[in-house]
Amino acid sequence: MESADKPSNFLRQIIERDLAQGTYANRRFAGHPADAAGHAAGQPDPARIRTRFPPEPNGYLHIGHAKSICLNFGLAQDFGGICHLRFDDTNPEKEDQEYVDAILDAVRWLGFDWNVGGVSHLFYASDYFNFMYRCACALIEDDLAYVDEQSADDMRRNRGTLTEPGVESPWRARSPQENLRRFEEMRAGQHPEGSMVLRAKIDMASPNINLRDPAIYRIRFAHHHRTGDQWCIYPMYTFAHPIEDAMECISHSICTLEFEDQRPFYDWLLDHLVRLGLVASPRPHQYEFARLNLTYVVTSKRKLAQLVAERHVDGWDDPRMPTLVGLRRRGYTPESLRLFTDRIGVSKADSWIDYSVLEQALRDDLDARAPRAMAVLDPLRLELTNWAEVFGSADHAEPCSAPVHPAHPEMGRRSFDLTSQVWIEREDFMEVPPKGYHRLTPGSMARLKYGYVIRCTGCEKDAEGRVVKVLAELLPDTKSGTPGADTVKVKGVITWVSASRGVAAQVRLFDRLFTDAHPDVGGRDFLSVLNPQSKQTVQTYVEPAAAAAPAGASFQFERHGYFVADRVDHAVGAPVFNRTTTLKDSWGK
Ligand code: ATP
Ligand code: MG
Repeated sequence: MESADKPSNFLRQIIERDLAQGTYANRRFAGHPADAAGHAAGQPDPARIRTRFPPEPNGYLHIGHAKSICLNFGLAQDFGGICHLRFDDTNPEKEDQEYVDAILDAVRWLGFDWNVGGVSHLFYASDYFNFMYRCACALIEDDLAYVDEQSADDMRRNRGTLTEPGVESPWRARSPQENLRRFEEMRAGQHPEGSMVLRAKIDMASPNINLRDPAIYRIRFAHHHRTGDQWCIYPMYTFAHPIEDAMECISHSICTLEFEDQRPFYDWLLDHLVRLGLVASPRPHQYEFARLNLTYVVTSKRKLAQLVAERHVDGWDDPRMPTLVGLRRRGYTPESLRLFTDRIGVSKADSWIDYSVLEQALRDDLDARAPRAMAVLDPLRLELTNWAEVFGSADHAEPCSAPVHPAHPEMGRRSFDLTSQVWIEREDFMEVPPKGYHRLTPGSMARLKYGYVIRCTGCEKDAEGRVVKVLAELLPDTKSGTPGADTVKVKGVITWVSASRGVAAQVRLFDRLFTDAHPDVGGRDFLSVLNPQSKQTVQTYVEPAAAAAPAGASFQFERHGYFVADRVDHAVGAPVFNRTTTLKDSWGK
């Protein structure tokens, strides 16, 4: 969608207002993250706005992150701005380079780029540890922060409740000099973990609990994946995030609604840091939007990690996972995910998006461009008993063809052979059919799609009475695309694959991972609603052109849905397909 066609929303209105008022028009940018002095010495900022996508590298990105990525990069694109990709790596314990690499891949795959005009806007919050420390010291010197030595329990008890004010810490009145000395000792590793924290000094009676002297630094003797053992104190998220935004000259810091109550602290902190001459003005502002909640899906990294660790799925990239690597392997395209996020828009009120909206975006994307192919998912053999009589030889192969895409003749045609034995879907034959059944039953006629009309003459069964072969006769002169092909009128058209020329393929049929639309609502154990039938593997036959496709190629298997050659397991000669989605929304119907 062109930006002019995009529906407005409250974030776009805020940005339009800021641009109209010139809120950020006169600011300077150092060309890289910097403090107030650094930016003041820089050039006028070439970006009209700056947004950022700030993942913590503690897991793989999921569909909810895709919403945030499309939103932040999309707004920057639409308004002449720049979006930064920033790793919010201030929490050493759970972070890892593996996740950093996976996140870089995912953002690129979605179609966004942090390089603008040859300049990279990829940043790491851990690069700002020195500056954050400086900010903390400045707050202490200004009597706006203190080292608290209460136990964690006392601190929790003294925080108060929604109805009762908190109680001031006995350490709250220490002098700035004493606090500074203690904070330096914390940094020097002279105190054990949990023995003390640095807290902002705001108001223990504030109705907003987040303003009751929030902790801003804690002691952690943890190895950081980038800074190693350089630090044994780490900033809290609520302290670090506003400073990261300010260092990077972010204008619009967009986050999810859970952070609404943190905004007063965000403002408190940056206003003081501007006043103290540490961060540039005009400073960033935080705006909140409703996170994506998708039915039948959990989007907490912790819960996704649990599914992987406990082997309920086959890894982060399991095609049933809502991770971007999982969706990609399932056959979702970047275009379909961008279309999905455009369609759901942004709002300020939490709601649930139905999973079918995601599937429909995929169909709308692939319908227009995925090559078509025939595949038989539940194969039953059919023999054309008059084949040798009609074609002169039992081994004759009759060439057939079909458009690669019915709406795009320029995509060309695909060829496949009809032979005396073909695979058809088991459901396309019934010995005793219900009323209105137009497919094969003894005596009935139907067309083998792109081939000939055939008349069913009977079937063969095994000892248990199960049909093992359908028998039929071909009607000469009825070949699709030849003159007179439709002199014999039939209602049923059947998809098929030649038994001797088709290729055996493994197909994985996926269903929703959970049986309940809201798997983790109300603290419910989401594992209790795992769908035991979420993955079914079937042996199928596919058209040769599909079997020869490269891994990652998508097809519409006619009448069945959209399928993708599995990125990991598919090989020419041993094809493996994942069903991305069915042709219609049939789930639960
Ligand atoms: P999780 O709870 O799964 O760990 P998170 O919010 O902690 O997710 P981060 O890596 O901190 O994960 O998130 C990076 C960005 O993605 C944040 O700006 C966050 O607001 C956004 N984000 C995360 N989940 C969603 C979601 N479901 N919908 C929209 N945005 C999201
Ligand atoms: Mg987080």
